[in-house]
Amino acid sequence: MLFDLQPKTKREDLYDREKELSEFKEALDLGERLVLLLGIRRLGKSSLLNVALSEASYPYAKIDVRSMYFTRGSIPQEILAKRILSSLIESLPPSGKLRLGMTEALSSIRGIRLSGVHVEFEKKPDLAEILEKIDSWAGSEGRRVIIGFDEAQYLRLSGIQYDGLIAYAVDNLPNLTFVLTGSEVGMLHDFLGLDNPKKPLFGRYAREITLERFSREQSIGFLETGFKELGIDISPSELERAVDKLDGIVGWLSMYGYLRGIQKLPERDALNELFHRAQALVLDELSSLLSHSKRYGFILKAVAMGNERWSDIKEYLEFKAGKINDSKFSSLLKNLVKYGYLDKSANGYVIPDPVVEEVIKG
Ligand code: ADP
Ligand code: MG
Repeated sequence: MLFDLQPKTKREDLYDREKELSEFKEALDLGERLVLLLGIRRLGKSSLLNVALSEASYPYAKIDVRSMYFTRGSIPQEILAKRILSSLIESLPPSGKLRLGMTEALSSIRGIRLSGVHVEFEKKPDLAEILEKIDSWAGSEGRRVIIGFDEAQYLRLSGIQYDGLIAYAVDNLPNLTFVLTGSEVGMLHDFLGLDNPKKPLFGRYAREITLERFSREQSIGFLETGFKELGIDISPSELERAVDKLDGIVGWLSMYGYLRGIQKLPERDALNELFHRAQALVLDELSSLLSHSKRYGFILKAVAMGNERWSDIKEYLEFKAGKINDSKFSSLLKNLVKYGYLDKSANGYVIPDPVVEEVIKG
């Protein structure tokens, strides 16, 4: 169902991402070692990753790095190792030959105890050794293994050099492919540092697949198809109005469809409820940023109110929060771009998502 609020897992529920799916599949089939799935929040990165992995014939592990970081406040190697292994085992058919073979290969890791998909370590595991074992099992089976880190930029906050580990794997473990998604595209690039001579992944190649928002036509088509699926008739002018407000951000479009078509709210109430939910979501997403500096909030507010130019935004910020020097201010702006909250265009800065903009405007 197109209007389900969860990230999609089946191709038939994933609207019009055929091109991206086939690019992804091609990257895997070519044996790329590092694939990045990029785009602002709610364009369907997690959904695309789910669908691609569930359809691919590769054993895979998939880790939701963001939720792991927020439930624990860090990403300890041991927990990450457990998640990778249990997710990997789970991706193979139960009691099939492959699962048995993999379990047997993994049981030679020092201090490991495996029972079904459950993994325990008697002592602190060595993630590099674990990846080596997975790689050599993959090699002996003649298959690739995919390791997916959803919202991978959070790995940078763990205090552990996961970039070094990924670099080691990319260089030395030919049967592994890492797929990293990131809503905070600039932060993910910084973490990986493919262009940064000081970083371990410097100079490595990554295949990048960038999700764009739907065009107006696709957005209308998405809503039409979703409502048709529910057997509900919605006037073309209402669809136009919804897309005016929500743009081609599929996450908002499907929430609208859910509230209107499944909760059966009238048009106006559906939109109100959507903004209400968006407010909670966006404020939660922004909360850790705002805890670093309240100035981020004032900058976003300035832009939401229509200030696009560097100097106008700075003036607003100084009015609200006092003097700030140019380079400090520029670095705050730059961070907001890296976090995906601002886009920089020829005319200046804009908030790329109209719903987020509305929430910030308040
Ligand atoms: P992201 O990971 O980029 O933030 P998600 O995959 O979580 O985005 O998708 C956000 C919402 O939009 C989810 O409710 C999901 O079901 C829906 N969605 C995303 N892409 C599509 C698509 N191509 N077709 C239908 N629904 C989609
Ligand atoms: Mg996601």
